[in-house]
Amino acid sequence: MKYLIPLYIFFGLHLAKAQTLEITAPKILATYPAYLETSIKDRRFKHEEIVPLIKALRNKPGFEVSVAGQSVEGRDIYLVRAGTGPVKVLLWSQMHGDEPTATMAMMDVFNFLADAGGPLDEWRQLLLKDLSLYFIPMLNPDGAERFQRRNALDIDLNRDAVRQQTPEARLLKQIRDSLQADWGFNLHDQSRYYSAGRSGQTASFSFLAPAYNTEKDINEVRLRSIQLIANLDQLIEQYLPGRIGRYDDEFEARAFGDNMQKWGTSTILIESGGLPNDPEKQELRRYHYLLLLSAFEAIRSESYAQYTKEDYFLIPENKRLLHDLIIREASWQKDGQTYLIDLAFRQIERLYNGARLVYYEGRLTDLGDLSTFSGYEELDASDMLLQAGKMYPRIFFDLKELQRSDNYRNMLAQGYTDVRLQRMPPKEIAAQQPLKLHPADTKKANNELHLNGNPSLLLVKGGEVQYAIVNGRLFELAK
Ligand SMILES: [Zn+2]
Repeated sequence: MKYLIPLYIFFGLHLAKAQTLEITAPKILATYPAYLETSIKDRRFKHEEIVPLIKALRNKPGFEVSVAGQSVEGRDIYLVRAGTGPVKVLLWSQMHGDEPTATMAMMDVFNFLADAGGPLDEWRQLLLKDLSLYFIPMLNPDGAERFQRRNALDIDLNRDAVRQQTPEARLLKQIRDSLQADWGFNLHDQSRYYSAGRSGQTASFSFLAPAYNTEKDINEVRLRSIQLIANLDQLIEQYLPGRIGRYDDEFEARAFGDNMQKWGTSTILIESGGLPNDPEKQELRRYHYLLLLSAFEAIRSESYAQYTKEDYFLIPENKRLLHDLIIREASWQKDGQTYLIDLAFRQIERLYNGARLVYYEGRLTDLGDLSTFSGYEELDASDMLLQAGKMYPRIFFDLKELQRSDNYRNMLAQGYTDVRLQRMPPKEIAAQQPLKLHPADTKKANNELHLNGNPSLLLVKGGEVQYAIVNGRLFELAK
């Protein structure tokens, strides 16, 4: 049923004013594969990869492409205009260099908006007639180059809205002022460890209608963003039930969203979060595409006006309550005492190959009573004993020899989680192994429980190893 709910139910009541058109979320998603920009496949694409996509829009009718300015390191920052309508919508993505989901979605939106004669052409033309859409894809190309939040000066652009010392922040302010944009879309990614309220579900998207003063007053400008968010929330909840959060609205005097709102542009913050089994956020990218096009329709048709601030405040607040893995209620013996203990691990991203690739390193991020936290993956270990993994006595020559010599499951079942090699593979290869690898001169495995460590652990029942935890990942052995 959820895939049959048409947008006009959400966007419907005000269609008397705008032209009525039966556009549905299922139609937007069904036609999406044709507009997916396939040259962008993961989160760590660079400026040089999107520039040709943006330049190609120069040849498309209805588009205007200009170089609006340069980053600290001289990378061109583009302004793309589509549509000629009276309502001005400004969208900027990736002001934090490692927050690229909206940039990916923008590339797909460009493909849609450029497709004259496509299956949704009638609606596409309505959008372009009623709206003027201004996109700044990747406001922080130098940060994207390093896949880091801040720009090349290590300044956070989103704390430079007032002082405007960085060329990127100055540019964004200039563009807003010159357009006097009615709407602003401030597009970010948030930690995948945020949950939507206390549900234990990851907040796949979080919204915020930023406050424009410390009192968090709601004026007409902010009310419109509140209403549009309530409209979008109702739509996207159909696809990601329980996975939508509301960001803390404490006033941040230096941030762009808060100041945009103050300057008179109704501003919507969209944070792309996490989704199970979507580490490169390609599913979230698809839903982001749906959100952007749906927002354009909501603005065009003024369907947002039927929503209230009560609808908005019903969206559960973001809580930072998630880990990748939680082991619950294991028994842990130390110095003659037995403790009941929960363990939480997260996977820390490590970049390599010029920040184009990533591998993951486990980290023990919390221990103790974690009953108020949730994991992407969880294990009830209430009948199991937690033990440190052991170092395998023999030293192997290299990974090949190790892989030939024995089944890793047998080694783990005997309690051996750590192995020494004379020739270590690169870190990104070592991190993928089900055994923790050490150089040959390592004396001991060092698998004690310490916060922020990466211990290899065993969960034992009746003297038999049931599970092993290596590099923050859980391996089942009992089958
Ligand atoms: Zn951000």
